[in-house]
Amino acid sequence: MTADSPLLSEPPALEILRRVYGHEAFRGQQAAIIDHVVSGGDALVLMPTGGGKSVCYQIPAMLRDGVGIVVSPLIALMQDQVAALQQMGVAADVLNSSQTLDDMRAVEAQLRKGTLQLLYVAPERLLTPRFLELLHTLKVSLFAIDEAHCVSQWGHDFRPEYIQLSVLHQQFPNVPRIALTATADKETQAEIRTRLALDDAEIYLNSFDRPNIRYRVVERTDAKRQLLAILERDHVGSAGIVYCQSRKKVDETAAWLRDRKINALPYHAGMDADARRKNQQRFLREESVVMVATVAFGMGIDKPDVRFVAHLDLPSTIEAYYQETGRAGRDGAPADAWLAFGLSDVVLLRRRIEESELSDARKIVSRRKLDALLGFCEATSCRRMALLAYLGEQSQPCGNCDICLDPGESWDASIAAQKMLSVCWRTGQRFGVGHLIDVLRGDATEKVTRFGHAQLPVFGIGRDIDANAWKSLARQLVSLGYLVVQSDQFNTLAVSETARPILKGEEKLNLRRATVNMGSGKKARRNGTSEATTAAALARADVAPDLWDALRARRRDLAAAQNLPPYVIFHDATLLEIAHRMPATLADFLAIPGIGERKMKRYGADFLEVLAAYR
Ligand code: ADP
Ligand code: ZN
Repeated sequence: MTADSPLLSEPPALEILRRVYGHEAFRGQQAAIIDHVVSGGDALVLMPTGGGKSVCYQIPAMLRDGVGIVVSPLIALMQDQVAALQQMGVAADVLNSSQTLDDMRAVEAQLRKGTLQLLYVAPERLLTPRFLELLHTLKVSLFAIDEAHCVSQWGHDFRPEYIQLSVLHQQFPNVPRIALTATADKETQAEIRTRLALDDAEIYLNSFDRPNIRYRVVERTDAKRQLLAILERDHVGSAGIVYCQSRKKVDETAAWLRDRKINALPYHAGMDADARRKNQQRFLREESVVMVATVAFGMGIDKPDVRFVAHLDLPSTIEAYYQETGRAGRDGAPADAWLAFGLSDVVLLRRRIEESELSDARKIVSRRKLDALLGFCEATSCRRMALLAYLGEQSQPCGNCDICLDPGESWDASIAAQKMLSVCWRTGQRFGVGHLIDVLRGDATEKVTRFGHAQLPVFGIGRDIDANAWKSLARQLVSLGYLVVQSDQFNTLAVSETARPILKGEEKLNLRRATVNMGSGKKARRNGTSEATTAAALARADVAPDLWDALRARRRDLAAAQNLPPYVIFHDATLLEIAHRMPATLADFLAIPGIGERKMKRYGADFLEVLAAYR
């Protein structure tokens, strides 16, 4: 169908997608899901963050008679979603505990009049006898259960009230229900099905790939400076999240970045609730806040224009990494996932498992998960393939990760590995990496002399390789399990049984050279395309910076006047298109992705005015 064919001849769902949302076509399984729910079927939708879950229940609610009830666990989130719908001219509202009694009464009056298309409610409100009674007097088009993994008792986001949502099926057997989640794993799927009585629901399992996220893993040399270099090069004015392991590191990193003119704020569970809420609000409402946080910051971060997620420490598992990085680029525009790690992470995580109170069986699982994560970090082929393979998906090299972009050379590290393993062995497996490197490099330090290691035949056999490269090799040997960290307080290393074939020269060890050299910000990668991944930077590439700033300023003013976050007016990608296409008439705005009729009427003139100065 061409863009200028008469709207009336389109299927009704597509017509709404174009007219209300301003999107040209459905993505993936959206159309199938919508058809199924419109015709009254139940559905379980598994789709990654940013995949486009919302239209899967919003459009059916508009097409079916009555009001669609959306259950969502987070009040802050509901408010913004409802604001976004209202901006598009959809009759949507919200009922939650943060409202005044008058507000609630007004919403209930609308419900009784039958004028609402969508109502967002918190589960605890939905489940009150009074509200359920009210619902029985109304025409309900569907129930949408967002963040459905909250029924899972084993997940991080467990909400006891979610379990009771099965009453919806008992009390409203003829109303279709659609449950949605971005959690991939099989156990959670099964739990959602049984707990929500969705045994007969159609399952829509989408790929968990997030193609717009560029994955990069670097060796940590000076994490803060490496991060700063990236922020200054690729992310001027971007919103992003920086994850650290400890509260102390969060505070230090945020302060350090602020000293360097980055708009950074801290967030961790040790701060008082008020300060936390304030920082979260600023992150949502302002355009370029860098949130430095522990993993306490996460669930419900629905901000679509997060341009990067950086990890200064290793995440706990691949699943956690996938979830945390998934908060970037919900709007589909390019985003960065950047992880810096070093030997000390590996040592710390290995020790944490060994010294934990876990049962032996659980320790085995934990070790396996850590190995999988390290395998991802030390990967010599496409990172996305490794990530998706872990989530059970087959894929091809992606072209959008550090390794696809710059495969580097692999080098035969067998001899170097033999040297390091020998030094570890000959010095009695009683020393940490620093001392081993001193012996390798032939540094007669006080400690080397004291232990008589300068007399060993291995003393100085590794002068050809610099200390940093040795450190990097040690990390890889530990990651790969050839060197093991002993459970003592000195992080001493020992040679593992599996290293025998390498020591004997029976097995070759190929490693990626790039991991040794990468990371210090200054040393650009060889194919190093300038990674202008922020929408802002993209805009600057061929849009006059002052035009971009003027468009952003207008959006900011329009948003502030309504006390809304700017992205509710237009996403960055939409603003960027406005800058590129320079629409000359109101009608031209309709051709821009993300602008439907209502926003064209409401904001077109405002932006025409801004553009006028730049023609
Ligand atoms: P999710 O809830 O799955 O994280 P959303 O429903 O918020 O994702 O959608 C993510 C982004 O994708 C939004 O910016 C939305 O406007 C956009 N989007 C959704 N469906 C389409 C589509 N068919 N075409 C273009 N953009 C879409
Ligand atoms: Zn790749």
